[in-house]
Amino acid sequence: MGRMKPEVELPESVREEVALAQAVEEAVARVAPAQRADAADSGTAAVVEQVLTELAAATGGPGPEAAPATTMPIVFLDAFEVTQAVQDLAHSVPLISEKATIVRVYLRYAPGPVEVRGELRMARSQFGPWQTVASLGPAQLDPARSGGSLAELRSRRANLSFSLNFRVPANLTTAGTVWLRMAPGPVRRTIGTPLASLAWLPVRTVTFRQAVPLRMRLVRLRYTMGTPPVTHQPSAIDVAFIESWLRRAYPLAQLQLTTTTATATPTPPFPDDAALINAQLIALRAVDVSTGTDRRTHYYGMVADSGFFMRGLAAGIPQTPDPSIVASGPTGPSAFPWDNDGSYGDWYGGHELGHTLGRSHANFCGAVGGGSYPFPNGQLSDADEAFVGIDVGDPGNGLPMRIMGGIDSHDVMSYCDDQWLSSFTYGEVYTRLVAEDALPAGATGGPATATMLTGAEGARPLGMRLIAALNLTQTSGSIASVLPTAGGGDAPSRGTEPRETTVRILDANGAILDERPVPFQRSVLEDPDEDVTGVVDVVLPTLEGAASIELLVDGQVVDSYPVGGEPAPVGELVRADRAAAGPGGTPGGTLELRWAVPEAPPGQRYIVQVSDDMGATWQTVAVGLPEPAVTLASDDLKGDEVTVRILATTGSGTTVVRTDTVPVR
Ligand SMILES: [Zn+2]
Repeated sequence: MGRMKPEVELPESVREEVALAQAVEEAVARVAPAQRADAADSGTAAVVEQVLTELAAATGGPGPEAAPATTMPIVFLDAFEVTQAVQDLAHSVPLISEKATIVRVYLRYAPGPVEVRGELRMARSQFGPWQTVASLGPAQLDPARSGGSLAELRSRRANLSFSLNFRVPANLTTAGTVWLRMAPGPVRRTIGTPLASLAWLPVRTVTFRQAVPLRMRLVRLRYTMGTPPVTHQPSAIDVAFIESWLRRAYPLAQLQLTTTTATATPTPPFPDDAALINAQLIALRAVDVSTGTDRRTHYYGMVADSGFFMRGLAAGIPQTPDPSIVASGPTGPSAFPWDNDGSYGDWYGGHELGHTLGRSHANFCGAVGGGSYPFPNGQLSDADEAFVGIDVGDPGNGLPMRIMGGIDSHDVMSYCDDQWLSSFTYGEVYTRLVAEDALPAGATGGPATATMLTGAEGARPLGMRLIAALNLTQTSGSIASVLPTAGGGDAPSRGTEPRETTVRILDANGAILDERPVPFQRSVLEDPDEDVTGVVDVVLPTLEGAASIELLVDGQVVDSYPVGGEPAPVGELVRADRAAAGPGGTPGGTLELRWAVPEAPPGQRYIVQVSDDMGATWQTVAVGLPEPAVTLASDDLKGDEVTVRILATTGSGTTVVRTDTVPVR
């Protein structure tokens, strides 16, 4: 026969706690109806007072007047806080449906420090049914941290271990109201014994607002430089982290992210030439949108800093909802001492994307040109720390949940350290996302409605869309692409600049067929000392005999681009992978494709699209290619084969299309 299980002898103090917990439950049962329809604070306070009076009568001890509730060995509730990224105690920051949500419950217990766990109950109506959730971990209750005022809650809000924290189940974060309360009965010490509690009497409600998606295409820009040549591109971690960060920090539940890889068109290094990358993104986006991509999609380009650091840049700050404004920025493992989680491209991208969502700078730590910002020093809060941030974390990427303090964290639109979204930026971005979601999706439905494949559809294009980057300080520029478009000859109205930017259309003999001023869309000012850069995005008329387009700044030609003539047919796509095995091969591998075009006119350029669903949807990976060859990133390609579409264009007229299916492996 083995040993008996030893009897656990509870110490006197614990026995008293257990007895009190039982007495409290009995008193509440006498005082409060099982289902209190009215959960108003005044009603709750009356119930608490009556319970304390009952207890005094039952134990023969002093009444609540003589022994104030604050000193009794009973757990009380001080406050609830329902938070997703940043919040105050009045819940003035909108709660977004289907976004990761944490309920923080602040308790007080007067007699001495205790460590407790607890359960939260949540329901979609005041009468339930109630769903019970256990706390993520224990909470340290400390008599020195008690009370329900902002000042009294401050030290507990600043530290996750001083509150009971609950993750709200997904079914309770859909749009609408949620009722919250602590589970009835005692709170448990982490050693298992019960503590009398009246913390479950108060009931709170919060309301989740309808979520809107952010549609985003992340373009990894690849470049090759050095001797021997090394190819650089953002890593899988860079991609995973910006996706995770936007989900955590931005006011959205759904990030509709697609990723593609394109070879950067500027010659590396191009540290100050993000405007050239932005022009490339505008061209990629133009083709995508005309061949079925939702026109509410934002385009963001990422450039790895392993070769050089490209300063980030947004193409503009649209005052009205306009997802066509692109941006680009750097990424890499650790260039900022306060951020060593593995990639800084996440919040850096959050800043540039913020510009494209209408956010100007919070003018702190060197950021300039922005508007008013409600808190000092770029902080998330005033000195009272009414607002506290929370990063719900991402276990899949090794990121723990953590508090983003109201004073020591800073708004993403500043240049300060420890970046997060303030309530101000969070609310404004949410408003903009709602407005963007109401915009038309455009010509979705794939190639059948593609306005650009006019050759295939038989409709004559009405114009040439010229997309270029300019550096007015250097008086330089580069035409990224000239695309046939069904749009008319009216230039977009946005963009003004005192410098004169003009475009000429010339014939084969150099005679000027057309010359006109074009709007220059200035990049966001990131630094007063930086060059004035921006993009030109304009539709020009299709003219008989046009052979080239010239781009001019103050009368000086900065770039020219051949156009005109009928494009020649494209030969079969063949793999030419030998280059991939070169020294310092591209991380993730590449697929090299070539095609023959014996009769190509001088102005013939190529657009390359890939599809991993047999042509139902397309992603553009290259625009304006002068040579009949393209490099695809293997890790972008799913499955054993990829469908590739080559569009050959001379800027106007018909577009020649060839579609082939190519084995990937
Ligand atoms: Zn900025």
